[in-house]
Amino acid sequence: MIGRGCREARVLFIGEGPGESEDLQGLPFVGRAGKLLDLALLGLEFPDASYYIANIVKCRPPGNRAPTDDEAAACLPYLRRQTRLIAPKILVCLGAVALKHIIGPEHKITQIRGEWFERKGLLIMPTFHPAALLRDDGKKAFMWMDIKKARAKYDEIT
Ligand code: URA
Repeated sequence: MIGRGCREARVLFIGEGPGESEDLQGLPFVGRAGKLLDLALLGLEFPDASYYIANIVKCRPPGNRAPTDDEAAACLPYLRRQTRLIAPKILVCLGAVALKHIIGPEHKITQIRGEWFERKGLLIMPTFHPAALLRDDGKKAFMWMDIKKARAKYDEIT
């Protein structure tokens, strides 16, 4: 399960790992959470060529549990290679797992979402995982605002 989107994308969205729908279709974010992400991308008018979507882990953790640190560590070289090949300028971390492995375990998504970080020349925007919005409607506006910042930055750098 590699990713979907444009291989020359400037914006790379990073989720957690495949769920059941993703496992069946072999593509990231094609289930209910993915539909929400797609709505945000459409609503914020991300051009098709502007984004790529990938995950921290490439195989579905059994029973939809969060990936362990070992599983993430096994898959991170893959994600690093993807990132080098795509060469995005902006990363959007979707949820706590992406935040932990990309920005650092000392942060909490509820505290730092919507703030820009920089790592190795990449601008990084953490926001809620779309699946969290399925459980809590109140988070929708926050994800929208955060992804909107990434959209504005995309305009700024292109
Ligand atoms: N959740 C994720 O983090 N990634 C997917 O691909 C689907 C759901």
